[in-house]
Amino acid sequence: MKRQRILVTGGAGFLGSHLCARLLEEGNEVVCVDNYFTGSKSNILNLLDNPLFEIIRHDVTFPLYVEVDSIYNLACPASPVHYQHDPVQTTKTSVHGAINMLGLAKRINARILQASTSEIYGDPQIHPQSEDYCGHVNPIGVRACYDEGKRCAETLFFDYHRQHDLIIKVARIFNTYGPNMVPHDGRVVSNFIVQALRNQNITVYGDGSQTRSFCYVDDLVDGLIKLMNSDDDFIGPVNLGNPSEFSILDLAQKVIHLCGSKSRIEYKPLPMDDPKQRCPDISLAMNHLKWKPTVSLEDGLTKTVAYFQNIAL
Ligand code: NAD
Ligand code: UDP
Repeated sequence: MKRQRILVTGGAGFLGSHLCARLLEEGNEVVCVDNYFTGSKSNILNLLDNPLFEIIRHDVTFPLYVEVDSIYNLACPASPVHYQHDPVQTTKTSVHGAINMLGLAKRINARILQASTSEIYGDPQIHPQSEDYCGHVNPIGVRACYDEGKRCAETLFFDYHRQHDLIIKVARIFNTYGPNMVPHDGRVVSNFIVQALRNQNITVYGDGSQTRSFCYVDDLVDGLIKLMNSDDDFIGPVNLGNPSEFSILDLAQKVIHLCGSKSRIEYKPLPMDDPKQRCPDISLAMNHLKWKPTVSLEDGLTKTVAYFQNIAL
């Protein structure tokens, strides 16, 4: 394939750093934009020697002018602890960030992919969630800055498509995990692994019966690239995630086992608006993108545990 010049916003974050690495491996030029709110240079240290890689410190809530062929818009904190830390900034990042990146895409005629989220389904009342489900979101709750911000970003993407003929791609990403997660970002996989490696109590919120479906990062990056490279008229939204569903208690037990840990389970209050059940219906991605995850939770967790063992905790 012809070499592309590709912008990745949020490129120093967990998903962004893996995406930048993969796009470079495929021979592309990559421009990584990040304000390092939750990302870090250490995630992209291994890419800095590559002459096809460029980084720009920039906040996407301000306009940006670069010349690229395509844009992956990932800039936004994803962990509930991080996005609730400065909720106004979270909404601005989602909404103003989308407006700025869509404006850029329109000006330079680039295709643009939005990293949307399963959170747009809120606390879902249908199960598993398919793309035609409009969701069940509390617009004034503590998660709303993220959920409603991402919903508004999807609206903007579809309006730019209808109004300006922009080629858009909207991926609804379900819980993804792997190396380069921040040890203290509060997400369940990183929390449990760090706690287990330190033989500290594993903090299960609520009774642990709530479910999530965990996708290993390599699978997710495959899905994002397949979506970006799909036919112009396949714009999504499309669910990307692993449909194997586990309760949070199952996850805690698996992590304790894989780490050979002496940790015990400690129950803590369930946070407000915490979704009870989440599992993607990925038929659309399977049919249109010929994509489905290949890494089991056990294999993915083993790689993630090895990563956390190697960084100074
Ligand atoms: P992350 O927090 O590790 O990465 C986000 C990156 O965006 C960080 O590098 C951060 O510094 C950067 N950023 C934040 N605000 C910015 C701003 N205003 N300007 C420029 N950069 C900014 O999170 P992640 O897990 O890598 O998530 C990446 C994207 O994927 C997010 O948009 C998130 O909503 C989406 N997503 C992730 C998951 C998941 O499970 N990881 C699930 C659903 C959706
Ligand atoms: N969770 C937990 N203990 C933790 C962190 C999270 O029990 O230390 C639960 C959380 O309440 C939620 C699930 O794990 O039900 C996933 O949380 P996470 O923050 O990773 O992502 P979410 O899918 O809620 O955005």
